Amino acid sequence: MGYHIGTALILQEFKPAGECPLCRIEKIVNENILFQFLNDAVMEDDTRARVNKLGFCAEHFDMLFARQNKLSVALQAITRTNTLKKHIAAKDAKSAKKAADTLKKLTSTCIVCDIVNDHMVRYAKTIAQMYAKEPSFREKLLSTKGFCMKHYVSLLEHASLAGGKAKDYLADLTKLEAEHLDRMTDELQWFCDKHDYRNREKPLGSSADALPRIRVKLYGEKKQ
Ligand SMILES: [Zn+2]
Ligand SMILES: [Zn+2]
Repeated sequence: MGYHIGTALILQEFKPAGECPLCRIEKIVNENILFQFLNDAVMEDDTRARVNKLGFCAEHFDMLFARQNKLSVALQAITRTNTLKKHIAAKDAKSAKKAADTLKKLTSTCIVCDIVNDHMVRYAKTIAQMYAKEPSFREKLLSTKGFCMKHYVSLLEHASLAGGKAKDYLADLTKLEAEHLDRMTDELQWFCDKHDYRNREKPLGSSADALPRIRVKLYGEKKQ
């Protein structure tokens, strides 16, 4: 399944909006992968084999089911169910434990999560490389409002891709994230302080939606 990782999405989404530009990119990647699963990908043998082996998590099953091509979802569910059927039998307590372990493993994977994660690792690496190669990208990075924890961790993990600029990159990343975590705690603090009757007449301002935004900062955006 081909999905081109370019710099275009990064340049498009790195702007002073929202709490994590990588969450927005992940949503777009996720949509593209789901589209492929419901269209051409379902016919490819290697993809079928991977669906059999990994299956879908409940969240991605729901997302596939919510879209147009129910036939495709049903066909993939048949092959997947046939795979699981082979592992349900247990004759005694010992083999029951083994079957349980096997089923636990088999049902804890998701091919869509795997593919999306692969893409997001490549985005994290590309961002480090863009920082190193394109001086103007620094401004773009610093114009964002930082990242959710999951994506910040990924950027840290792949910072070495910035090569000789890795130290500068990490200094900027750390400063950016710290600034915006401070901004968020200030906004939350004002949200709390507003509960004091003495502040009743003062405006809530940007703190009005501080809780849904800290949800994004701490856990990333909801998939849908
Ligand atoms: Zn994120
Ligand atoms: Zn999934």
